[in-house]
Amino acid sequence: MGSENEHTVMLPLMAHGHLIPFLALAKQIHRSTGFKITIANTPLNIQYLQNTISCANPNSPEKFNVNLVELPFCSLDHDLPPNTENRELTPLYNLLMDIKEKEGKPPICIITGTFFGWAVDVAKSAGTTNVTFITGGAYGTLAYTSMWFNLPHRKTNSDEFTLPGFPERCHFHITQLHKYWRMADGSDDWSKFMQPNITQSFQSYEMLCKTAEDIEPGALQWPRNYTKLPVWTIGPLLPQSYLKKSSSSSPSVNPEKIIEWLDLHHPGSVLYISFGSQNTISSSQTMELAIGLEASAKSFLWVIRPPVGFDLRGEFRSERLPEGFEERIEETKQGLLVRNWAPQLEILSHKSTGAFLSYCGWNSALESLSQGLPMIGWPIAAEQTYNSKMLVEEMGMAVELTRGVQSTIVGHDVKNVIEMVMDEAGKGQEMKAKAEKIGRQIRHQ
Ligand code: UDP
Repeated sequence: MGSENEHTVMLPLMAHGHLIPFLALAKQIHRSTGFKITIANTPLNIQYLQNTISCANPNSPEKFNVNLVELPFCSLDHDLPPNTENRELTPLYNLLMDIKEKEGKPPICIITGTFFGWAVDVAKSAGTTNVTFITGGAYGTLAYTSMWFNLPHRKTNSDEFTLPGFPERCHFHITQLHKYWRMADGSDDWSKFMQPNITQSFQSYEMLCKTAEDIEPGALQWPRNYTKLPVWTIGPLLPQSYLKKSSSSSPSVNPEKIIEWLDLHHPGSVLYISFGSQNTISSSQTMELAIGLEASAKSFLWVIRPPVGFDLRGEFRSERLPEGFEERIEETKQGLLVRNWAPQLEILSHKSTGAFLSYCGWNSALESLSQGLPMIGWPIAAEQTYNSKMLVEEMGMAVELTRGVQSTIVGHDVKNVIEMVMDEAGKGQEMKAKAEKIGRQIRHQ
């Protein structure tokens, strides 16, 4: 046990995939050092964190003392203080100074999310230091970062290009560029926010990365060379029981019923499908995915959300599926549709689950890997396309079905890929063996 007089302040990026790993890290730091922990965020996210912690079993180690602080919204000028005269005005600075006043010294460090390079200056002026916590993987984050500083790739005549920081053999494809990179030239708003913030984050004291040397051997050296910072691996940092009982949205099917449904199936026979907490696919893609799933005759559990263009908080409507689809799959027990949200880690760790059709969010990828499950990639946003590339090319435990929400996909292709991955021989078997090996390594961390 270390010193209970030390204090660490955390500021995660305001997204689900960042809040959960920050909470898991907070718990680990508190348990291993006894440090006081404060997590600061927007009011809605603080509410979510509060619910999450209060849902944990009172006797479980998930229950720990953490101060949750709402940071008020303020104007953009105050939020982005790269030029120092503004930094004292930030709510974060005020929070650090409050702690300093009450405790006689500033927090030992602040731990901030990937795009908060400005926090380096704020930390310095409050007498402490900034540590950047990358909640993504090494490969995906480096690709995403490197893209912002190598915008000329948009001028290339070829559909393929290489990226500084990556070995020559890594070829990126034009379809792996987000639309903002295709337009960015360094003078646009996105570049003007991203470039200085990323550069400043390289002035952090060190970086923590939610990965492990076993998961991304080799790939870790690339961000170390690129940022010239110590990059420590602290993955997989799985949330465990946080996810079992808590969520901002309740599943349409009671979690016990989901497990009962999984219990009905043979080991390794169910495909789990989810596009995460932020993303969804188009109406036509939803239709073709449903056609392919049914034609494959494989069992599946699909967390389904309204397609692109519809209110994501709304209910998914059956008219967006082939006629009679839901009734048929229910009758034959081929499939289960869960609307909006499901207890993912519990599903992935159930013995009946055999593979994951995923958008390749990093938390989801790690959760899948930790359970030794091969993946079918359908990356959509952020660095997911690079996570998918890494899982396919470097790890050999995934195959990419398609990417984005504008691609044309037909049911027949969906069926073929599902059959290949769920096959007990051939490529499916090879991918499964690789995923299981990594899963064993991760679980023994
Ligand atoms: N998650 C979940 N149920 C869902 C959707 C997501 O439990 O229906 C959890 C998932 O297990 C993971 C996190 O939410 O821990 C999603 O993070 P990720 O980085 O995969 O992607 P994001 O949703 O942030 O894009």
